[in-house]
Amino acid sequence: MAGFYDFSGELGRLEQQGLYRRRRVVDGPQGVLLNVDGRRMVNFCSNDYLGLAADPRLVDAFQRGAERYGVGSGSAHLICGHSAAHHALEDALAEFTSRRRALLFSTGYMANVGTISALLGRGDTVLEDRLNHASLLDGGLLAGARFRRYHHADPADLAAKLATGSGKVLVVSDGVFSMDGDLAPLPALAALAGRHDAGLLIDDAHGFGVLGARGGGIVEHFGLSAEQVPILIGTLGKAFGTFGAFVAGSDDLIELLIQKARSYVFTTAMPPAVAEATRTALRIVRDETWRRERLRELIARFRQGAEQLGLPLMASETAIQPLPTGDSERAVALSNALAERGFWVGAIRPPTVPAGTARLRVTLTALHDDAQIDALLEALSELGA
Ligand code: PMP
Repeated sequence: MAGFYDFSGELGRLEQQGLYRRRRVVDGPQGVLLNVDGRRMVNFCSNDYLGLAADPRLVDAFQRGAERYGVGSGSAHLICGHSAAHHALEDALAEFTSRRRALLFSTGYMANVGTISALLGRGDTVLEDRLNHASLLDGGLLAGARFRRYHHADPADLAAKLATGSGKVLVVSDGVFSMDGDLAPLPALAALAGRHDAGLLIDDAHGFGVLGARGGGIVEHFGLSAEQVPILIGTLGKAFGTFGAFVAGSDDLIELLIQKARSYVFTTAMPPAVAEATRTALRIVRDETWRRERLRELIARFRQGAEQLGLPLMASETAIQPLPTGDSERAVALSNALAERGFWVGAIRPPTVPAGTARLRVTLTALHDDAQIDALLEALSELGA
């Protein structure tokens, strides 16, 4: 192959730098034990934090949804794809988040890109935490606004940048940082945005369902009001165990997004059966508080065990527990060695994280048991992680 279609050089470079990504094939439902390429692995890399992805009650709601609505939604929400199932889920999410309205998007990536680019344009300013998820950064770039990053979780740096913003200014942050597991300093961000008359958008993909006594996420965790965090984004493919995302906020915010968010307008609505399963997930997330409590116990067990073994923890109290390795090759080698012992832990490398900060990303779920955590810790220690 030659010319345009000769990709071998680029692929070779990725391989050399330890940045080549490979997929493993999972057969069977998601959960703690997975069938991977014909063998059993203990799963320590999923975002299914409450263990709901294969819950029989979700499966049942999904099946009933498919019987009632079929499989495909047929079109975008603004054509004929907006079903009673979607509408009921939006109402339930609005109520759960104490907001006037919620709007479903087909994925979190699309919610972030579509919302930021609908709210800002040329002459405006977007201020983003430098460790924000790729979809928030992409949304800021796509908006055509002046794009500035502030130091990670640093209100003082944000304050300095807010002082020089032009046009409409939007502050954007992950709630729980997806690769570090730490929390945004939300009370300070909300106060600063309020003081500077700026907007505030929080993507709580990894906090929603997990943090707060009722699973209301980072806003509930810090005891803030809906008014203090006017644009809340949550994803449904993580703690909720299903798929998709939503934006929650005022009537006018949601109406504006319906008119202008291109990743809402120009895409097929999620299958209605997914919305039905998600409504069941919402009830479970709210009512089964033992899942959050169990997860907290397991997080504490992992951290205590890791400390005793001298493993290098990061400052995370959430289900995302990264172990820094520095270079990418080492992260991959450790991940492969763990896989040989039957543990699936992801190697996180640039561009997902900044250069020189590769890591193993261990994620815990409410369905792990103590022995699985202990066995993982032992393997990490033996491998010299
Ligand atoms: N925001 C954050 C912080 C995420 O970690 C992710 C997914 N990894 C997304 C958004 C995207 O959500 P989805 O997978 O639904 O596109």
